[in-house]
Amino acid sequence: MDREVRVRFAPSPTGALHIGGVRTAIYNYLFAKKNNGKMILRIEDTDQTRFVPGAEEYIKDALEWIGIIADESPYAGGEYGPYRQSERKDMYAEYAQKLIDEGNAYYAFDTPEELDAMRERLKAARVATPQYNAITRMQMKNSLTLSEDEVKEKIASGEPYVIRLKVPHKEEIRLNDMVRGWVMVHSSAIDDKVLMKSDGMPTYHLANVVDDHLMKITHVIRGEEWLPSAPLHVLLYKFLGWEDTMPQFAHLPLLLKPDGNGKLSKRDGDKLGFPVFPINGVFPGKDGQPETFSGFREAGYLPDAFLNFLVFLGWNPGTEQEIFSFDELIDAFTIERIGKAGTKFDIEKAKWFNQQYIKSKSNQELGKHLIASLEENNVAYDPANVEKVCNAMKERVTFPQEIWTEGKFFFEAPTEYDEKVARKKWDATAVDVLSSYKEEVLKADTLTAESAKEILNNILEEKGVKIGQVMQSVRLAITGKGGGPDLMEIIEIVGAKNVSNRIQKAIEVLPVKE
Ligand code: GLU
Repeated sequence: MDREVRVRFAPSPTGALHIGGVRTAIYNYLFAKKNNGKMILRIEDTDQTRFVPGAEEYIKDALEWIGIIADESPYAGGEYGPYRQSERKDMYAEYAQKLIDEGNAYYAFDTPEELDAMRERLKAARVATPQYNAITRMQMKNSLTLSEDEVKEKIASGEPYVIRLKVPHKEEIRLNDMVRGWVMVHSSAIDDKVLMKSDGMPTYHLANVVDDHLMKITHVIRGEEWLPSAPLHVLLYKFLGWEDTMPQFAHLPLLLKPDGNGKLSKRDGDKLGFPVFPINGVFPGKDGQPETFSGFREAGYLPDAFLNFLVFLGWNPGTEQEIFSFDELIDAFTIERIGKAGTKFDIEKAKWFNQQYIKSKSNQELGKHLIASLEENNVAYDPANVEKVCNAMKERVTFPQEIWTEGKFFFEAPTEYDEKVARKKWDATAVDVLSSYKEEVLKADTLTAESAKEILNNILEEKGVKIGQVMQSVRLAITGKGGGPDLMEIIEIVGAKNVSNRIQKAIEVLPVKE
């Protein structure tokens, strides 16, 4: 019988969610929806030492921003909760006990000093990777080397201990990864990983496997950095008797720096001049000073554009199509089309996606962004103009805030003028034409783009001047710039009175070319 597809995104609240993590969440979501399955959000917060207040909230907000809402989570609830590992503590102890009872795990009482001494000893004996394993465990202080009574006594007296996995000495562990194909690891390469820490909390490995099993996860889709842990997880499934329902693994390729040299790290954002986090955030830093980091949302990326961009960092549909709606992505997404190689991060591509999405937005929707900018900057505006401005600007901007920053002239008279254009074009003919134009526009009943054009044409005809001779000067007087959206539309939006005043001011301040 086919099981219902259930995937999970399992972040640790140890800081801001990097865009690589966001991509993992999106792939999980797409895979779940494509297969009529469920996506689970599980907070892996068992490492108390790395817990960062606010990080869980950040993860939730970032995912909500792009519309990734898990079917089951600490917020949505679900049949398989709780969905925070710190609230599931007792469940892990039970399975650790089972592993011990069946001889697949053991208590270890070694102090940090004793562990250091072991490593030093092995290093001195030229062992390349000194580790606690099938060979060294027999020289250490654990329930395999101590008598049963000694072990009981130590536990009863409250001596700190951990529980370690007893990794078999010689065994080949294989797994068939959906992205990487067959992965084979010899058990001698794996150390006796700690499963339960001395604070009674499970480590990532135990908690992750137990939860994936109890939550009936069918596919584990996660970052490539977890591939080395996968064989260990396979061993755990085997020891716990869960092999039959072991999830399938899909380890996603890394996101690389733009030059392809190494992994895109959390610290790259500030250095490379673009965000590596979905949204802005502030967390308490190590030295007590708050640490801030910037996100795509605040830089002006639209959530659907950002999502579309991220999906393409590692996946492709096998066709030329790049712009996909959410539903189209769900429809097209398959794990088979995820590449094995790391993907270079390309911020220019992110901008391109944003531009495409802005172009396709309604003027009404873009208007919301424009109104926000206008209000933030205390600019008075006629609400009737908002959508017209968006319409005029949307082909020309990469970010919504640029409708304001690049289109200020719709709302405010220019305070400076493009010097090059002024030097080249602002001559006596232009001033003559504009002197008439500033009077004539005031006479129109309603100044529309059409009537503004007609008035100008009449003046040009009368004076025997070609339009190309003065057009840039008209634009310069009204906008301060040498280029931009359709000038007659600008004139309509700016209005007769303002147009007239702006021309008057330009005539006063601009030196006329000899
Ligand atoms: N808690 C792990 C992380 O932070 C989850 C890895 C996994 O998906 O197994 O990435």
